[in-house]
Amino acid sequence: MTIRTVPHFDRIGEENAFAVLARATALAAKGKDVINLGIGQPDFATPGPIAEAAIRAIRDGHHGYTPATGILPLREAVAADLHRRFEVEVSPEEVMIVPGGKVTMHMAILMFGEPGAEILYPDPGFPIYRSMIEYTGATPVPVPIREANGFAFSADELLSLITPRTRLIIVNSPANPTGGVTPKAEIDKLVAGLAQWPDVALLSDEIYDQMVYDGEAHVCLLGYPEIRDRTILLNGWSKTYAMTGWRLGYSIWPGKLYDYARKLAVNSFSCVNAPAQYAALEALTGPQDAVGRMVAEFDARRRLVVEGLNTLPGVSCIVPKGAFYAFPNISATGWKAKPLASALLEDAGVATIGGPDFGLFGEGYIRLSYANSAENITRALDRMRGFLERRNAP
Ligand code: PLP
Repeated sequence: MTIRTVPHFDRIGEENAFAVLARATALAAKGKDVINLGIGQPDFATPGPIAEAAIRAIRDGHHGYTPATGILPLREAVAADLHRRFEVEVSPEEVMIVPGGKVTMHMAILMFGEPGAEILYPDPGFPIYRSMIEYTGATPVPVPIREANGFAFSADELLSLITPRTRLIIVNSPANPTGGVTPKAEIDKLVAGLAQWPDVALLSDEIYDQMVYDGEAHVCLLGYPEIRDRTILLNGWSKTYAMTGWRLGYSIWPGKLYDYARKLAVNSFSCVNAPAQYAALEALTGPQDAVGRMVAEFDARRRLVVEGLNTLPGVSCIVPKGAFYAFPNISATGWKAKPLASALLEDAGVATIGGPDFGLFGEGYIRLSYANSAENITRALDRMRGFLERRNAP
């Protein structure tokens, strides 16, 4: 080929969870019985009233473009929902409806990343953070997320990594892939420390905010007036309402960033699919009991998976406080994480993701999504036990 593309496209990364899903699907198509604990999506159906609202919207003629930022009633519903849950004041004029949670990180990183700039992000963490930072030419600065710290970030460690070149800090609690939840005291410390760095923006990925267990309350970063004018909130419907395939997310953008995000939308997707926006409206304004049921079910599975993992040879797992992931330490098995994940899939028919797919600090761990039935989780753990007893590390 003689065509000349721009070099940053060679730096875009991927999300290996999709490759594992493709491999698991290919093995299943060949007749192998695969239990998928790889992909991070609820195994529940989107609640009926939400799906019905989209069907009704099509019948009612909502088939055209909407404003690029989303329909006003939905932006109002997002603002009301944030106020109801966290007592934060949000204007519908700050709310942007986007096609999935990912779009917010994509836009935010585009706004701050350029050669010479540094962007802090959690490691292990959602792989798209680093991928997009590298795409922009900015320097990715990993913030280690440590098991010894309950997979919370350490405010002191994070603050020590800020330099005059830092433009953006990405935080994620509850976290993928670890299930870690950062306690309020640590977030308070981070916010206090940021007073010294008034030019640094924050992207808070709170997509798992309803999946916090053991009676703890989620801490929304919009609740800190000191940093409100430089905090971007990423959230959406994918996980809370079992809507991953609908491609629905929202962001809160401070000041001029809102207009940048709106223009990016106009220059790319124009607006989110109109019937999906009506479904999102029903999700926020209709009864919330389905969310409660799903979260209670995840909680029960969380206990099951952690208890089971801790009985496997060479495996230990701390109790994750949020999201729907367990991140067991597998270093005592003698296996490296990626070969283990791969052998578990090919040999035992259990799809998991190797920790290094979430960053260098993920070595020694694998991620299991417990968004699968209790029965399948039990079968998967039995298979893992059989595998670890049968196969020595290469
Ligand atoms: N942020 C985190 C931490 C995630 O784990 C995910 C999805 O797995 C996303 C964002 C993206 O969500 P969406 O599917 O809505 O784009």
